[in-house]
Amino acid sequence: MSDTASKLFVVSGPSGAGKGTLVARVREELPNLGLTVSATTREPREGEVDGTSYYFLTPDEFQRRVDADEFVEWAHVHGHCYGTLKSEVERNLLQGSSLILEIDVQGALQVRERMPEAVLIFIKPPSLEVLAERLRNRGTETEDAIALRLSNARRELALQDRYDEIVVNDDLDEAVGQLIGIIENYERN
Ligand code: 5GP
Repeated sequence: MSDTASKLFVVSGPSGAGKGTLVARVREELPNLGLTVSATTREPREGEVDGTSYYFLTPDEFQRRVDADEFVEWAHVHGHCYGTLKSEVERNLLQGSSLILEIDVQGALQVRERMPEAVLIFIKPPSLEVLAERLRNRGTETEDAIALRLSNARRELALQDRYDEIVVNDDLDEAVGQLIGIIENYERN
């Protein structure tokens, strides 16, 4: 078949593996790819905008939405709640566009349960040492927060076999090219 089909792509992997940058670059190249805005209970970082970077919710408001079954998936990540709202996914699917979710590993595995047709892509740092260096260079996290993210990363790396595809984010341009190749390949099939 030469027609392309709408697909749900889930990109995840350890924090600091470069998922955000990668997904932003892929979006520039593939502007038809929809992106959902996640909800979180963490505080906004400098420069982050409510409704664009995330929907920043209070813990009570987040819980209210969990109770109302408004999430496709949600998880505790690094001491805060993060989740994908059903309304965000539906908005994109109604437009007939493929969709890319950039979420943590627990969330990705929940999506797999609910939507087995989703394509799970694991973004891997070249090594844990490189990951630690990237987290420190980012300068947005305390040493305690970095230690927590590294111990989570070890657990997450152990789950990479449950993914359909793995991209090692060593050279950014190469990783962008690989991710685009994967997306186009699944959209053709
Ligand atoms: P950050 O606080 O650095 O923006 O994100 C921390 C982690 O939360 C990242 O690993 C990111 O992928 C994950 N995350 C962001 N949005 C969601 C979401 O909607 N659901 C889940 N499960 N994880 C998310």
